[in-house]
Amino acid sequence: MAIAIAIASGKGGTGKTTISANLAVALAKFGKKVAVLDADIAMANLELIMGLEGKPVTLNDVLAGKADIKDAIYEGPEGVLVIPAGVSLEKFRRAKPEKLEEVLKAIHDLVEILIIDCPAGIGKETLIAISSADGLIVVVNPEISSISDALKIIAITKRLGTDIIGAIVNRVSNESTELGVKAIETILEVPVIGVVPEDPHVRKAAAFGTPLVIMYPDSPAAQAIMEIAAKLIGVK
Ligand code: ADP
Ligand code: MG
Repeated sequence: MAIAIAIASGKGGTGKTTISANLAVALAKFGKKVAVLDADIAMANLELIMGLEGKPVTLNDVLAGKADIKDAIYEGPEGVLVIPAGVSLEKFRRAKPEKLEEVLKAIHDLVEILIIDCPAGIGKETLIAISSADGLIVVVNPEISSISDALKIIAITKRLGTDIIGAIVNRVSNESTELGVKAIETILEVPVIGVVPEDPHVRKAAAFGTPLVIMYPDSPAAQAIMEIAAKLIGVK
């Protein structure tokens, strides 16, 4: 059965797009048929990490009623289907977020796992993504402001009736000021399903437009994301 997972955080810059892109590729490496969609239609950057920038037809064209979803799906690394939102402000202005729900349903039918990269905040796209998804993964950084925003996303997810798969703690450098996994689980009341370290390879891979798990598979962050993917699909 196909499942759709929304990756959200409340706060901007926690690593949602990094995790979405690399988790999608990691799941594909384990043989799953995967799609990843950029629901951050205003500040789209999934396509940059996936090495697919500048595509002629994007999600924003589809949401504007100007294109068919089939024409906005591109094959990326490891055969992952990527639905970029495009960086054109003009196209974003014409996009109607209400159409996102039917777009998500259409892609859901094509793959085993659909990853939805949500924008920061709790705007329309995030709410539609979470309510359409089967499960939520909340990405947090080990600091209180990030955790408090995650609490809002978790509360909204519960209200929408979507399952909470768990939290990923990203950019961990084990400094004494950081919140630990136990504390984060206690505050959020959800399991931490993975810890991704602060790792300079993340930015290097992004600069090359190649997913980290392909470019630096042995890097600490790539290994952590592969472990999360394995856990999600029950690979030992
Ligand atoms: P979001 O989608 O939540 O806004 P991004 O995935 O775009 O966040 O990440 C924000 C910035 O943080 C990017 O420059 C990215 O390269 C960097 N980053 C994300 N995760 C890590 C990490 N584990 N180690 C180092 N840099 C990271
Ligand atoms: Mg993002």
